[in-house]
Amino acid sequence: MQQPILVQKYGGSSVADPQRLKQVAERVVAAYRQGYRVVVVVSAMGDSTDHLMTLARGMTSHPHRRELDMLLSAGERISMALLSMAIQELGCEAISFTGSQSGILTNDRHFDARIIEVRPIRIQDELERGKIVIVAGFQGMSYKREITTLGRGGSDTTAVALAAALGAEACEICSDVDGIYEADPRVIPEAQQIASLSYEEMEALSRAGAKVLHADAVAWARQNQVALYARSTSSTFGEPSGTLIRRDRDLEDDNLMRPAIACMNDLCWMTLDTTPEHHGKVAAWWKTFHLTPLWSHWNPNAVQSFFRRDDEDLLQRALAHAPPETHPTLHNTPMACISLVGQNMSRDPQWLSRGMEALAAADPDILVYQTHTDALRASFIVEAEHQARAQQILYASCL
Ligand code: ASP
Ligand code: MG
Repeated sequence: MQQPILVQKYGGSSVADPQRLKQVAERVVAAYRQGYRVVVVVSAMGDSTDHLMTLARGMTSHPHRRELDMLLSAGERISMALLSMAIQELGCEAISFTGSQSGILTNDRHFDARIIEVRPIRIQDELERGKIVIVAGFQGMSYKREITTLGRGGSDTTAVALAAALGAEACEICSDVDGIYEADPRVIPEAQQIASLSYEEMEALSRAGAKVLHADAVAWARQNQVALYARSTSSTFGEPSGTLIRRDRDLEDDNLMRPAIACMNDLCWMTLDTTPEHHGKVAAWWKTFHLTPLWSHWNPNAVQSFFRRDDEDLLQRALAHAPPETHPTLHNTPMACISLVGQNMSRDPQWLSRGMEALAAADPDILVYQTHTDALRASFIVEAEHQARAQQILYASCL
């Protein structure tokens, strides 16, 4: 019988410097020596993707997205080659591959591409030869043979997509945090670790802003039933730790009915003066400029929409081409969206009301601009400067 395949992914802070790369190499070799065929996906070292973005913005305020992809994909190539060398130094055979060499095929949306197919033929050949394979995360090749990147945080998606395509036993996402917590422990130190979550709950948490796992990666894991572990890079390989994400949450978990809190704190908002006749034109304008508002409020005389700050360059460029007489205003105040995530959010009105009452009672400065509920979450949009305080209030009143 062939040895099981394990995909491990190491985030930017885990490969930030030579010392940490060597520790990762040790953990990879430990998995290999315990009998796995190992594929490792790496992020760019430390903040290097941010540095590359800064370099690009030093050239132009609107970098061309194709060239951004050429630039950003270099970050992961540095870590893949260094990690491969570190593993070889420990006496194992290793080989590194870019996303395109790994057979990751994407659509042609530069800077935010979606994986459409994975053909990991070269990876399979090298595993067959007994090698450890290191793959540059966050990138692929479009059907037009262009290099693409998968959106910020996209290395998780590389790892899960490869795990699915290779029929891996599991996919470990390793970072500087030891799993998923019911709230961000930097904001709420008493927040507890969660032992297991369903794919749906995890995806909702990630979409609501939890940083540990990328939402698209979780969706990919759900579609392909890949068992996903969120673990600390400093954990000993093979010892149980972290959070397991799988089809069903552990039913013995008594936190089953407790929601978790996530925060998306990089939003901006725009208002347009409109009459209902403008609405179709506004929607067409968004489509032309690839703008996807997270939430929009359509009034008889105005449209108010919230966007990711990452899309600010798209927004700035689009503003000059807005439908006439709509006087678009991109507001300066940074906004945050805080969500309670859990089962029965939309069926049980208590969560939205409890949260709203608590926020109103605790601090009159915290103005809630918009609320929103769906099957798994109840969300509150507030000014970003109040986000920590608002999370603490929600934690104290709802968990
Ligand atoms: N290096 C990329 C980023 O910083 C991708 C990743 O780390 O997942 O967004
Ligand atoms: Mg990440």
